[in-house]
Amino acid sequence: MDAPQIKVGIMAEKEIFFTLDGNYHLESSTNLITGRCKARKAGPGIYIESGDDCFFCPNSVVLIPSDPDTGKFILHNVTIGINFHWERKEDQTFKGSLHFITDGDKVHAINALSIEDYLMSVISSEMSATSSMELLKAHAVISRSWLLAQIQKNTNLQTESQKYQTTFRTENELIKWYDREDHTHFDVCADDHCQRYQGITRSTTELVEKAVKETQGEVLAIDGVICDARFSKCCGGVTEVFENVWEPVNHSYLQKIVDNNLQPEGYSLDLENEDAAEQWITGNPDAFCNSSDKKVLKQILNDYDQETNDFFRWKVVYSQEELSKLVKTRTGLDFGTITDLIPVERGGSARLISLKIVGTLKTMTIGKELEIRKTLSKSHLYSSAFIVEKQEIAGSINFILHGAGWGHGVGLCQIGAAVMGDKGFSYQEILLHYFRGAGLERKY
Ligand SMILES: [Zn+2]
Ligand SMILES: [Zn+2]
Repeated sequence: MDAPQIKVGIMAEKEIFFTLDGNYHLESSTNLITGRCKARKAGPGIYIESGDDCFFCPNSVVLIPSDPDTGKFILHNVTIGINFHWERKEDQTFKGSLHFITDGDKVHAINALSIEDYLMSVISSEMSATSSMELLKAHAVISRSWLLAQIQKNTNLQTESQKYQTTFRTENELIKWYDREDHTHFDVCADDHCQRYQGITRSTTELVEKAVKETQGEVLAIDGVICDARFSKCCGGVTEVFENVWEPVNHSYLQKIVDNNLQPEGYSLDLENEDAAEQWITGNPDAFCNSSDKKVLKQILNDYDQETNDFFRWKVVYSQEELSKLVKTRTGLDFGTITDLIPVERGGSARLISLKIVGTLKTMTIGKELEIRKTLSKSHLYSSAFIVEKQEIAGSINFILHGAGWGHGVGLCQIGAAVMGDKGFSYQEILLHYFRGAGLERKY
């Protein structure tokens, strides 16, 4: 069996400028196109302009390189780091074929390529070139497993008669999670929402190529079923359970685990409990991911991310006015002046599943973790594992959020895995530490 193809959504704009480096042809014709081009929405279809030529294509179009080994294309002005402080536009280069599909009043550019080529690229851009071989191999296996599981899930969703629901809203409650339902035209997007993908702009490193090739087709599986292998930057010492972050499905391999060889001494790990959560978050427990070894951290945190390294335990302070304004902007709802943030339910890693926001005009409970992180930050809070300290000053309240970890905390902890790789653990040991009960299988 050959490696399957994956469709990655790169950008959506009214018009998209691109350059074909090498000859390409439209799927439906033998006309060759090369050089500077433009795709734009036109009525119900898409116009592809190339020099003096103009091709009208209804709904969707596929451009295929004549020579798949050397053909490349460049998409101009791709936005990266959406909603992050380092958001910017850049040109990106891709291998494989280029699809355009209409999406409302925009055109979506999609890159279709072999999963193995895609993995080399995402792992090269996600991880630093200084990563250990075992960490890179572990990453190749989880990324491949996750992708194949997502493609499978998407196929299942399309054949299921019942619509997949991810938002539950009443007057006083909003419980929402963010997952695969967002994409209908392609398998994954190029943003952090799925996995950061910047084409072959940042050339793949030899080490990453070796890690992907040596694990080719290898996935985490249980009884032949590929695991929906998740990962995040830093669990904070204990990993979170899948269903506390996404849909209410129990995956035996995505449970709460202590990110260490030993149980941390002096802490209760009953982190659903408020007192235990407070002691944990304000403490400094031993964990693989509790590391300030720059050499190891550099393996995970790329240039942008290295601007911050206070991810294991962190603190955010808002004045009452700031918080009230922020929540109004982020939710579109007027809570009046916010007087309290009350933890309602926590998961196994102390991450909040739901939080009650109390205002003078409105009180509402929100969840799950990403909804909470988006609501309480201009972009995203590091995690929803936080406790709220209220400091009363001259008739006003400062809200101090003391937090732990970075990301949803489910599955592999990247910082922890980097530390394990550095300590000499093999990629199999790293994977089986985070995905308990799963095994490794080669699918192609
Ligand atoms: Zn996505
Ligand atoms: Zn961890």
